Amino acid sequence: MDEAPITQSMPVQDVCDYDLLFDCVHCGLCVEACPTYIATRREMDSPRGRIYLMKSLAEGKLQLDDDSVRHLDLCLGCRGCETACPSGVHYGQLIEGARAFVERNYRRRFFDRFRRSAVSAVFPYPLRMRALLAPLVIVDRLGLRPALRTILPRALRDWIDLLPRLAGARPLAPEAHAAPAADAPRVVVHHGCVAQVLANSENLNSERLLAAAGYRVVHLENTACCGALDLHSGNAARALDFARANVSALKRSGADAILSAASGCSVAIAEYGQLLKNEPAIADDARAVASKVKDLSSLLLAAGWTAPREFRCTVTYHDACHLAHGLGVREAPRRLLASIPGVKIIEMVESDLCCGSAGSYNLTEPEMARELGRRKTDNIVATGADYVVLANPGCEFQIAAELRRRKSKTTAIHLADFLALASNGDVR
Ligand code: SF4
Ligand code: SF4
Repeated sequence: MDEAPITQSMPVQDVCDYDLLFDCVHCGLCVEACPTYIATRREMDSPRGRIYLMKSLAEGKLQLDDDSVRHLDLCLGCRGCETACPSGVHYGQLIEGARAFVERNYRRRFFDRFRRSAVSAVFPYPLRMRALLAPLVIVDRLGLRPALRTILPRALRDWIDLLPRLAGARPLAPEAHAAPAADAPRVVVHHGCVAQVLANSENLNSERLLAAAGYRVVHLENTACCGALDLHSGNAARALDFARANVSALKRSGADAILSAASGCSVAIAEYGQLLKNEPAIADDARAVASKVKDLSSLLLAAGWTAPREFRCTVTYHDACHLAHGLGVREAPRRLLASIPGVKIIEMVESDLCCGSAGSYNLTEPEMARELGRRKTDNIVATGADYVVLANPGCEFQIAAELRRRKSKTTAIHLADFLALASNGDVR
């Protein structure tokens, strides 16, 4: 791959932050950390290959065609490459820029356009999502989902399979008995959009556990989507709108710490400073909000949370990409789980390799998502654990669907729900 010498005056297309491309020294240390490279063994489906592709597009050496878009689309945005890269390449920023470039300049085929538009029109809006899912709630209450599956077309059936049981029971942690101390740190749990509709127990349990640990839990007046879905799908303008709304609401809350049950949302908020850096009216607030992002396990450990009882079971822990690669949190959830009397942790192979969920990736790229989901569940099932604990609702849905398909006895459960279950076993 010979490169033309770059000069200051060379015109480049606005594919991504062009200067950031030069952080990559093409060493290839990232490729074996990339799920799509592992699956396809094609250089252009590796981080290094995609960086080369972005650079070629920017320099006009490559046309934006079906092939180049395919390689960019197939990226999960998991950021496994950022963890592996010794040169500090900001791959997440690069791919988000490239995705916006694709959406501005490439006309997708009808079905792909329809699929992406449907996700974009519904997912960030909890009211729309609730309305759309209302019939399925009734179907689930009547236990008719298996019958419904048989009459649905394949594409819809695959989407329905990813949804948790909408009328299902979920564990709830006990309410805090004591009021927080007057000087207790204020914590906000951002309820997200998809999570509050499909897995609100994860938000409620995060709040109850934090309150029980002594934090003052404050609630947001308005919760807008964090913008991650839009950033990952190239809709930068709406992502900015969501980010501005969230920065204002989070600033007004007076929170000392901000977290989300969805690690992808946490990372999106943690990057508001970068996202809004060119907007002087809000840049300082965005940076301040971003600096307060924490994760549930670190906050509970810092407050000395302890399980109130023994809970005998075996657990394997799946590292959600954005928590591990985005926020660098790996040890805290494991330490928290290991602190529960009776819990035995069994590490799985490739615990930080993406499960294929990746926001809405499993809806827009179902084949690759299924392949990665199968690989992940192979590794989970090999541990023989009773539970696979994770800190992201998307991973839960993706892994649970694959575990159901193979009738596994292992239960996929969010960390907050697991701690609730371990606290009192109360399932409602
Ligand atoms: S992204 Fe980083 S690890 Fe990958 S080829 Fe470039 S410099 Fe090497
Ligand atoms: S973000 Fe994930 S899928 Fe995309 S290039 Fe990096 S490691 Fe590969």
